[in-house]
Amino acid sequence: MKLYISSDMEGVAGVSSWDQVDARTPHPEYATYRRYYTQEVAAAIDGARAAGATDVLVNDAHGPMRNLLFDDLPGDVRVLFGNRKPFSMVQDAHGYDGAFFVGYHGAIGDRDAVLCHTYTPSVIYDLHVNGIRCSEATINAALLGHAGIPLLYVTGDRTTVEGVQRQMPWVHGTIVKESIGVFSANSISPRAAQAAIRAGAAEAIARARDARPFTFEAPIEMQITLAKVEQADYVALIPGFERIGSRAVRFVDNDLPTVFRAFVATFRLGALA
Ligand SMILES: [Zn+2]
Repeated sequence: MKLYISSDMEGVAGVSSWDQVDARTPHPEYATYRRYYTQEVAAAIDGARAAGATDVLVNDAHGPMRNLLFDDLPGDVRVLFGNRKPFSMVQDAHGYDGAFFVGYHGAIGDRDAVLCHTYTPSVIYDLHVNGIRCSEATINAALLGHAGIPLLYVTGDRTTVEGVQRQMPWVHGTIVKESIGVFSANSISPRAAQAAIRAGAAEAIARARDARPFTFEAPIEMQITLAKVEQADYVALIPGFERIGSRAVRFVDNDLPTVFRAFVATFRLGALA
């Protein structure tokens, strides 16, 4: 069983502030929380391996995407580092039998979801695909699903885990905190979270047979509301995009990776507007 892990930091136990997860202007708490983050990923690997996972690829998918402490992971896992990956949080996801999302967070606009956002919150105000409101987990699971890879497991706050399970009922989940709005949480301890994730990951591998790839039916219609009009001005210049409102654009294609690349292009170009 080859396992792909996309890991994020906002859904790690205890996290309740951007200071704790901001690698660029490190607050003293960042060093502590990157260690907790690494330990949750290591616990997921540990549990998965105990249940039969073999090759593991981890995509460090938070912020500048170079947060994991390599020394604290098993010596034989591979890690994708760096944030200019064309497929971003789900780069190189092909040839795997299942996937985990560790430390994930709610979608922009979610209530009671610590640090909720969807990719770049200064650009992406809202994302719908085929009429379905998408979190990062939704759009990322769809790219994995296109490659035939089912999402098996998610960890994060209650809103995130239950949101994923509403869209993908086969996904096993571990809730590490109850979010109280955007900037506070009632969390279990890092050590308790790691133990729960170790057990949850093993359970998710054991239930892998019940999982199925999440997909969108073609034609795939993506609608994005940008945070600002000037961002929509820029994104509407990309061939294939249609302007459907002062801040809203639409992109349709039959191929999910093409739609995903259009999404990545949107938040990259929008950030330059
Ligand atoms: Zn993140």
